[in-house]
Amino acid sequence: MSISNNKDYKAIQAILEDAKKRYEMFKSQNLNLDMSRGKPCKEQLSLSDELLSCLESYKTKDGTDCRNYGGVDGIPEAKELFSQMLGVSKNEIIIGGNSSLNMMYDAIARAMSFGVYGGKKPWSKHEKVKFLCPSPGYDRHFAICELFGIEMITIEMKKDGPDIEAIEKLVAEDENIKGIWCVPMYSNPDGITYSDEIVVRLASMKTKAEDFRIFWDNAYCVHHLSDDHDNLKNILEACKASGNPDRVYIFSSTSKITFPGAGVAMMAASENNINLAKKHLSIQTIGPDKLNQLRHVVFLKNMAGIESHMKKHAEILKPKFDAVTDILEKELSGLDIAYWNKPKGGYFISLYTLPGCAREVGEMAFQAGVTLTKVGATYPYGVDPDDRNIRIAPTFPPVDELKKAIEIVAICIKIVSLNRIISQNP
Ligand code: PMP
Repeated sequence: MSISNNKDYKAIQAILEDAKKRYEMFKSQNLNLDMSRGKPCKEQLSLSDELLSCLESYKTKDGTDCRNYGGVDGIPEAKELFSQMLGVSKNEIIIGGNSSLNMMYDAIARAMSFGVYGGKKPWSKHEKVKFLCPSPGYDRHFAICELFGIEMITIEMKKDGPDIEAIEKLVAEDENIKGIWCVPMYSNPDGITYSDEIVVRLASMKTKAEDFRIFWDNAYCVHHLSDDHDNLKNILEACKASGNPDRVYIFSSTSKITFPGAGVAMMAASENNINLAKKHLSIQTIGPDKLNQLRHVVFLKNMAGIESHMKKHAEILKPKFDAVTDILEKELSGLDIAYWNKPKGGYFISLYTLPGCAREVGEMAFQAGVTLTKVGATYPYGVDPDDRNIRIAPTFPPVDELKKAIEIVAICIKIVSLNRIISQNP
């Protein structure tokens, strides 16, 4: 929105005054609305309550007693089901504990301490370790890098995935770039699914580091909001086809299929990578919670079971996502002060303000009782260079609270942006 004449100025003033009045009205209500983390709501959790009672036997198909130690890489029926979910073979998967983030952390820790399959030395023995971080991205990925002292390089996210030209150039020139974080389907927070071309170029690009790895966090691989959904090309196949079979580690979990914190996590990769990981894992643990793996297979049954279960999630979530985008549309369209994504799945909506406004919007919303994901957290080191990305997590609050929270955020965007426009056009 720009001011070209007195009429425009008056129109902006009127919108601003109205927004300020509504803001004060909401502020006086002492609200407490939390949209900070992508957690499933109670109704979603209840979809999986059968998990609490569905286990009638403790034995796997091959007779393993799941009450006891053992089976470090998971039970056969869980491997069968989740290898289908990720499009890999049963020899290319480890079924782990309750958290894929934990498996990612461990994969980095192993690479730092011992190196990766085919690598000549541990990553930590290099003078520096760097990771490419398509951003906005998942704050907990960045936190792992920070903890291990891995230098993060921000890569811009485009409509079809990360800026592949920038990636190709960087990895070709710098031996210290050892990895890249990717949330390739319904990315956190943009909701973008990587195009086939991006998948193939990531799989086939020339890297100066021979021990380079793609951390493919496919957390939202079956999390569609409707039948009109995105599709993701199989990266392990693409890596094999381009002669780089060991380049990718794939991660996922049932955290947002069943119970976060009490689900089943998995890592998939080439057999070489999996065998090396298993060797280390068998020192780390005598085995995962096999009973939890078994009850997940009993409950979810097969891929058709997972798909029909995810449709029930979508029935709860679609109205929430629609409520957010409808309100943003109603409040902000035509003003040229913000834009947002309309994802076909996943857990988030990315909202972009004018440059330099997001932090202030986050603070104003907080003063009115709305907690958002910390603005900036979606970028390495917590700094959004343009200060414009806001991550909206619509899944947890009830619809009426969600609507109120989004209305407040939209009002804050109007106040912050229009004040700025006026001050820049005295
Ligand atoms: N990856 C992404 C992209 C996520 O958004 C989340 C949850 N917010 C996780 C991983 C965490 O997964 P888990 O519960 O399996 O550790």
